Amino acid sequence: MKHGIGAVLLALLAAAGAADPLPARAPEIASYDIEVRLTPGTQRLSGRQRVTWRNATPDAVGELWFHLYLNAFRNSQSTFVRESGGQLRGDRMPDDGWGWTEVTSIRTADGVDLAAGATFEHPDDDNAEDRTVWRVPLPAPVPPGGTIELDMAFEAQLPRVFARTGYFRDYFLVGQWFPKLGVYEPAGTRGRASGGWNCHQFHANSEFYADFGRYRVAITLPQRFVVGATGKRVEKRANPDGTAVHVFEQADVHDFAWTASPRFVEVKARFSGATDVTAAEYAEAAALLGRSLEEVRLSDVDVTILMQPEHMRQAERHVAAAKAGIKWFGLWYGRYPYETLTVVDPAYGARGSGGMEYPTFITAGTTVLFNRWPLDRLRLPEEVTVHEFGHQYWQGMVASNEFEESWLDEGFNSYATGKAMRQAFGPWTLEVLGLRVSSAELPRLGNSVERMFDRVRTPAWRYSSSNNYGFNSYARTDLTLRTLEGLLGERTMARVMRTYHERFRFRHPSSEDFYAVVDEIAGRDMRGFFAQAVERPGVLDDEIAAITSARVEPPRGVFGEGPARRTISAREAREQAREKDAAGGRLWRSTVLVRRRGEVVLPATLRLEFEGGDAQVMALAEGEPPAGSVDVERAGLLPGGAGGEPWRGRFKRLEVVTPKRLLAARLDPEGRHELDVNRLNDARRVEPDPRAATTWSARLVFWMQQMLALAGL
Ligand SMILES: [Zn+2]
Repeated sequence: MKHGIGAVLLALLAAAGAADPLPARAPEIASYDIEVRLTPGTQRLSGRQRVTWRNATPDAVGELWFHLYLNAFRNSQSTFVRESGGQLRGDRMPDDGWGWTEVTSIRTADGVDLAAGATFEHPDDDNAEDRTVWRVPLPAPVPPGGTIELDMAFEAQLPRVFARTGYFRDYFLVGQWFPKLGVYEPAGTRGRASGGWNCHQFHANSEFYADFGRYRVAITLPQRFVVGATGKRVEKRANPDGTAVHVFEQADVHDFAWTASPRFVEVKARFSGATDVTAAEYAEAAALLGRSLEEVRLSDVDVTILMQPEHMRQAERHVAAAKAGIKWFGLWYGRYPYETLTVVDPAYGARGSGGMEYPTFITAGTTVLFNRWPLDRLRLPEEVTVHEFGHQYWQGMVASNEFEESWLDEGFNSYATGKAMRQAFGPWTLEVLGLRVSSAELPRLGNSVERMFDRVRTPAWRYSSSNNYGFNSYARTDLTLRTLEGLLGERTMARVMRTYHERFRFRHPSSEDFYAVVDEIAGRDMRGFFAQAVERPGVLDDEIAAITSARVEPPRGVFGEGPARRTISAREAREQAREKDAAGGRLWRSTVLVRRRGEVVLPATLRLEFEGGDAQVMALAEGEPPAGSVDVERAGLLPGGAGGEPWRGRFKRLEVVTPKRLLAARLDPEGRHELDVNRLNDARRVEPDPRAATTWSARLVFWMQQMLALAGL
């Protein structure tokens, strides 16, 4: 909130050389003290919670809005089920596996009953049957700076695991389970005209948004269950009735999830800031980021992996991946501030609960097949664990609004995950029977002109399709940030990401906040890049459409006037040419036709490759290329480098006259245009070399086939 002033203050602090720009604590806005009992046979939760909400805005707030997420699974009429058609994230909703929640009582701390005035709201669509958003008018507004406490009781039926949460036999992954406040946003937040609750319905393609606070959760369930949860276990006691109470606490978080199963095997590990990072790695990170060694120093973390017994052979892989995440995200963006991390390996049959993130608590994804040849070299289990861990940074701490700007969490995290994976485990994500696909190549596979219809920045439920939600929020943002890195350079990009994280840790930044950090750290206006790559539809697809290179023929025909008129015959011209050839002096005229098939205009460079190994790299700048004959070896065609204004037409035709024959032309030889939807048309040879072309396309097709096969696993 009030981030205009906050950003100025932070900038001043940074300018004054404040010791550590990482904020130590989150603002306490929405805190929950919950007692919940799980009755396994019925899959029911009975809960009581005291909710404390502090009004950190300048508005007097007369109502509270809650998410009742489990009602997404209530019946076929919910917005979630209508949108998803009962299928999500590669999983299908089981028949009759409904879930729901009901608030049975809600009172202020002094006993005023608020239930009578409460209503279900559907701010995003006209679905009056959706019960995932609940509005509670208050007897008196909460003044700016004021606090309200509510006592609530709720009952919940967990769904059969399908989308993230629920049960499968005696495995429970309990997420989105308690009545949870939305975020009150004052006027000006993400461009809103007046203050109000940001509390969206639960959509098929959307995740979450909440304020930070302190959680204390006491979970009661039969003693045979192994339990894991957000935060730190502060108490565990046995009751005479055969149940146990597990109490977890965590501050500075905006959600709480837990899991229980009698089958979990608990694997303990510890990340050590002293021994898991070398002195050289600290020094390298400090130099890259321009920070002191103290600022990049990491703290210790207790890691708990809750494994399915049949996956035990992969336990060490999850430990290694969790440690890699803590290390590389910590070094690059700022130390992981929590004492614990819990990684849950979901039960077979509960795949829908895998690959999910909650504060200090993530769910992994694996299958027993990944133990075995030839699939044992797929890095997918590591990738999922590193990715879900990465959400501690992008969405966990930098708490963007996943409903409205999913690219800021999923996409930033995909970009960061790829970097961490390459750093920790090498370039290859997939390695099967000699085939290798790198994590850098994977996001490109889905990129095509089909992506021209959507803007990257779109509310999650408003993309043209669920597939386009996924591609834009994840892979396309990864490619966008890698393209930005190509334009800014690795060091500047690293400092952009560090600064953005530091400045917005424990806050709710929007896209504009990120753009401002980029401009500030890069020292130039990059809005044009984001306007095209993020805010507008359209794709990047520059191509070399045609290329020629031919000898410059000596002049022939009629020259001069009056007595001086003479005719050079074709035979004479050929003779002249032969003489020049013998002397080695004949020139080559070469043409290159560059075309823009997409809407996105980025600074582009072109590499011309001449006979004998000579090459010339030029910026394709706005304006006409120099006319006539140019000695590219001496003068160059146009200023090199990719700064300045890119060319803006639909095509550009270059003609050069040189002593050597042009062999090939290649756009973006530095490989910075990661966003280009077709990299096969970026280069062309004067004499087509079918061998090279088929090798590329064969490789591409092969990858795609492998991906499809994998997706079907
Ligand atoms: Zn994710």
